[in-house]
Amino acid sequence: MRLDKLLSNSGFGSRKEVKVLLKKKLITVNGEIETKAEAKVDSEKDTILVGGEPVSYQEYIYLMMNKPQGVLSATEDNHQKTVIDLLAFELHQQELFPVGRLDKDTEGLLLLTNDGQLAHFLLSPKRHVDKIYFAEVDGRMTEEDQKAFAEGLILEDGYRCLPAKLELLRYDEEKDCSEVEITIKEGKFHQVKRMVLACGKEVTFLKRLTMGPLHLDEQLEKGNYRPLRDEELAALR
Ligand code: URA
Repeated sequence: MRLDKLLSNSGFGSRKEVKVLLKKKLITVNGEIETKAEAKVDSEKDTILVGGEPVSYQEYIYLMMNKPQGVLSATEDNHQKTVIDLLAFELHQQELFPVGRLDKDTEGLLLLTNDGQLAHFLLSPKRHVDKIYFAEVDGRMTEEDQKAFAEGLILEDGYRCLPAKLELLRYDEEKDCSEVEITIKEGKFHQVKRMVLACGKEVTFLKRLTMGPLHLDEQLEKGNYRPLRDEELAALR
């Protein structure tokens, strides 16, 4: 692999930024200063140091994004902005894709990676990864709704959902709206909205908080992202 690509993938900035490090003679490969961006290196065999510190190379990229409303969970679209458009330019070459989808008007936790194997593992219907959503709902969600969620709601197309959890957080009598937390193990199209609809009510706001062991970092502004921490990645596997 090219040295600049390896360093860029390993968190040393864009290829342009890596070039500056090379020019400053801060990079050594097997003890020799290397200044050429295109030098070929082997992450397993070569010892690469930046400013004397060893580079820990990551084959894949894993990003946690706080998806804002109004962007598609897709890699490209001719007309609308996608989550990939929110990434820094140098990440556009990395073939990143969202793991699972959030609706355009849903915000919150979205994992982006170029590790197809991990994505497949997490999305496998057999794995039943818990996902927790915060929702605002027009109308009052009740204990009966809670029971219906727990028993397995039947959607408008006849599909019976796996048992799910509905937690009633708050009901605003004046506005006639509820705040709830919903935990589901599946990821069917518009699932949360359709489950609430099956109770005769409508979701007006939806935000994903967790996906398996991964929790949305509340420090992340909407539209921002950060690399997964080692322990977050380890917990996903
Ligand atoms: N359920 C929905 O209805 N929409 C989402 O974006 C995610 C889950």
